[in-house]
Amino acid sequence: MLTITGLNKWFGEYHALRDVDLSVASGERIVVCGPSGSGKSTLIRCINRIEQFEQGSIVLDGVTEKGARQTESIRRQVGMVFQHFNLFPHMSVLDNCTLAPMRSLKQPRAQAESYARELLDRVRIADQADKLPGQLSGGQQQRVAIARALCMKPRLMLFDEPTSALDPEMVQEVLDTMVGLAEDGMTMICVTHEMGFARQVADRVVFMDRGQILEVAPPAAFFDHPEHERSREFLGKLL
Ligand code: ADP
Ligand code: MG
Repeated sequence: MLTITGLNKWFGEYHALRDVDLSVASGERIVVCGPSGSGKSTLIRCINRIEQFEQGSIVLDGVTEKGARQTESIRRQVGMVFQHFNLFPHMSVLDNCTLAPMRSLKQPRAQAESYARELLDRVRIADQADKLPGQLSGGQQQRVAIARALCMKPRLMLFDEPTSALDPEMVQEVLDTMVGLAEDGMTMICVTHEMGFARQVADRVVFMDRGQILEVAPPAAFFDHPEHERSREFLGKLL
């Protein structure tokens, strides 16, 4: 579904992504981990074209994209969930969920609302539909953010540390939602250091360090027998 080849990205002089290659099959679940500053967010943002890149290619479903129109189409097919939710604070939960389907997909309001309510129900938050994001807990807001992304019927979901800004007691409800998505067969790339989640759902764990992918392995192999010295060092700090 997704093929990243020879991806290089610079911020000015700083070489943020170095020769990144990664292919993701339809239905596959990838967990990306690595030290802070290793380029995880940058990689995710390049996939979604929030960030430009200088070299290499990112091909989604065989569509090599150049130009604004294809960027639009990629963004429509790729859902993104951020660390800090990024919900529109002045809009109700329901309106947060219907905005993009109505604007980008030109769905009539009734259709967008009915699908949004279905998804809010799926993340077990249907009763909060008319509230403002600020009236919800962090865990609830993140579940809204997941529902909002799903309203665009994405083929690929990107998560960038979706639980790292949450109070500890709210982490599990968001992880449970993500596990549910994985069980439904969603193709997912998740930046997270939640090892339990990685072990439970990941097909492969990608370890990044200093802009490079240093190791790719199934979770059991990665966590129990990391090959690279820097992977071992990183895991040692997590425990
Ligand atoms: P991670 O998500 O793994 O913590 P990031 O992808 O956010 O890492 O950042 C990788 C490196 O790129 C860091 O050194 C960071 O400071 C740098 N970086 C990220 N975004 C920018 C930016 N907009 N301008 C300049 N440097 C950036
Ligand atoms: Mg990051």
